[in-house]
Amino acid sequence: MASRFYDPDGTKYGTPTYPRNLAPRGLATKKQLRRLGLRPGGQEPVAQLAWRSRSRCGGARDGYRLAWLYHVHLARPVRPMTPAREQALARALLARHTCRDCGEIHPYCLPTSLGGVCPPGTGCAAAPAVAA
Ligand SMILES: [Zn+2]
Repeated sequence: MASRFYDPDGTKYGTPTYPRNLAPRGLATKKQLRRLGLRPGGQEPVAQLAWRSRSRCGGARDGYRLAWLYHVHLARPVRPMTPAREQALARALLARHTCRDCGEIHPYCLPTSLGGVCPPGTGCAAAPAVAA
């Protein structure tokens, strides 16, 4: 039992901590997930990996470095930008630029506080209300 980084209960570090070679199966760092084509997908890290490092760059502190560990079975596939997604994104953006009342397309997103219609003084809100 050698490593000062072996702390599966988190009593020492506050978070379950494992040295690099003793991480439990089923847990992976972000980098390892990425290599599998996965991303954490919103889950909180469940543990951390710690290893000795002389390097002081890249988040190194006091001669050791940490990496969060995530459940592999909770990870989600990385979503590539597909033409369909791009179109959906463009449609969503366009919708935010389009007045819900008159359909005028503005060069900016319409504030949701106005309910997605033309701001006062523009488009269908430009003409002052005609008193009957
Ligand atoms: Zn309008």
